[in-house]
Amino acid sequence: MRLKSIKLVGFKSFVDPVTVPFESNMTAIVGPNGCGKSNVIDAVRWVMGESSAKMLRGESMADVIFNGSTGRKPVGQASIELTFDNDPDDPQRKLGGVYAQYAELSVKRLVTRDGQSLYYFNGEKCRRRDISDLFLGTGLGPRSYAIIGQGMISRLVEARPDELRATLEEAAGISKYKERRRETENR
Ligand code: ATP
Ligand code: MG
Repeated sequence: MRLKSIKLVGFKSFVDPVTVPFESNMTAIVGPNGCGKSNVIDAVRWVMGESSAKMLRGESMADVIFNGSTGRKPVGQASIELTFDNDPDDPQRKLGGVYAQYAELSVKRLVTRDGQSLYYFNGEKCRRRDISDLFLGTGLGPRSYAIIGQGMISRLVEARPDELRATLEEAAGISKYKERRRETENR
């Protein structure tokens, strides 16, 4: 999988629909303080299912919806869509299993001010769980090590052994099997 683009609509400072393409393997987002660079990363975490407002630098989940600025009224909903290329030149980077049939994978999340939260996979409504399943074991995910945020290095250095182990297990690709086992045992 390779992230091809992100579409932001009504999310934080991105009130008008905008699609950011990631055309090469290295992209840098630059701009003055407060222009919305970190909001893009918040969007990536959020669409993958992040449910803690704090992790998204807000107080409540509705804080991700554009809440107005000088001359612009607040809007009623926010959505983010990530599109991944699942047909990379390097077959090792292709997501297998039920996903192998798709050359492109898209994941979308939408929330409304009245608290409705919807997820879509390739345009079809799905559960939050389907989205977390997709990313489990890929190294991507709302809290994954693929996103290195401010303070993360020191958190890792200071992590408790069980926290460190969870990170290593995700990197080794075994966390999804542990999760399945846990679910089976709880049934
Ligand atoms: P820095 O260089 O300081 O890290 P940045 O480019 O990362 O800045 P962000 O933190 O991404 O900036 O963006 C902050 C801006 O987003 C602020 O101007 C804030 O008002 C705006 N913002 C955040 N949430 C919302 C919202 N719900 N509605 C409207 N604007 C918002
Ligand atoms: Mg920032």
